[in-house]
Amino acid sequence: MDFLRPASWEEALAAKAEHPTAVPIAGGTDVMVEINFDHRRPEYLLDLNRIELLREYEVGEENVRLGASVPYTRIMENLRAELPGLALASHTVASPQIRNRGGVGGNLGTASPAGDAHPALLAAGAEVEVESVRGSRFIPIDAFYTGVKRNALEPDELIKTVHIKKADGPQQYSKVGTRNAMVIAVCAFGLALHPETRTVRTGIGSAAPTPIRAKEAEAFLNAALEEGGFWDSGKIITPSIAKQFADLCSGAANPIDDVRGTAKYRRHAVGIMARRQLGWTWEQYRGTGRSLEGAA
Ligand SMILES: Cc1cc2nc3c(=O)[nH]c(=O)nc-3n(C[C@H](O)[C@H](O)[C@H](O)COP(=O)(O)OP(=O)(O)OC[C@H]3O[C@@H](n4cnc5c(N)ncnc54)[C@H](O)[C@@H]3O)c2cc1C
Repeated sequence: MDFLRPASWEEALAAKAEHPTAVPIAGGTDVMVEINFDHRRPEYLLDLNRIELLREYEVGEENVRLGASVPYTRIMENLRAELPGLALASHTVASPQIRNRGGVGGNLGTASPAGDAHPALLAAGAEVEVESVRGSRFIPIDAFYTGVKRNALEPDELIKTVHIKKADGPQQYSKVGTRNAMVIAVCAFGLALHPETRTVRTGIGSAAPTPIRAKEAEAFLNAALEEGGFWDSGKIITPSIAKQFADLCSGAANPIDDVRGTAKYRRHAVGIMARRQLGWTWEQYRGTGRSLEGAA
């Protein structure tokens, strides 16, 4: 196995163009497991750790530009206000050691349906900036996941930056697992309220071949909130609306039975998380969320 160690982004792109089968390695918390267990024996490893720009983030007017290799620990510590959903999701990843190494670029590279970043990215609305020597392109997060552990990257492309809308309202993330840490999600759910556009977005993890949004549930809730004047009044969401939303989220899931849980349990748990998160985020919106919006 050859080890390629580019010193710059340009060198990394050139190396990937020359060796399209080279496997990029960032934190290595997925790649090294696969190599150690002999699940993968790539001809080339492309080490991205000398490329500073991948470890940087920038908070702009509307978006956060998150370098692909920014570790979860820094997201939790430094971007909690701007990206609350992703910060909560980061908090649930593995252990401090893994969170110090692993990042969102690696989660996207692996594209496991159980990856914790995905529901938060789907709910917040993210775009993945990928680049090759041929140029760069922006992939909307909804189009990024193409199958079980498959993504929209071309063989010569690398993930450069993830552009994520700064939170304009409350966000939540939760995950069901057999214990509180070091656990792969049985299923996960993320929710973001977007008062600026009066919309709600969701993300479901580990309950379908790819991370998905519950689009029908979003459309139902968006219409119900608008028609009932909920965004303006901030009144409590009725139990029947919350139940219908939860049922539609549950119905959006397309899970399987496996060692971590049954399909039936996963569908049920997605509905529970959806209902609870709607309650938590709406309560927050009724309090600080709305007053902040009014002050802006
Ligand atoms: C003990 C343990 C517990 C874990 N627990 C969790 C958990 O709770 N939740 C969770 O979501 N994950 C978990 N993981 C998986 C892993 O930590 C995450 O997926 C993490 O986000 C991977 O990031 P990384 O930088 O280490 O990726 P790497 O291992 O370096 O790379 C992962 C994949 O992404 C590709 N890649 C990396 N960077 C780029 C780039 N810039 N461009 C293109 N491709 C790229 C690699 O080629 C590889 O295919 C766990 C792993 C371990 C070992």
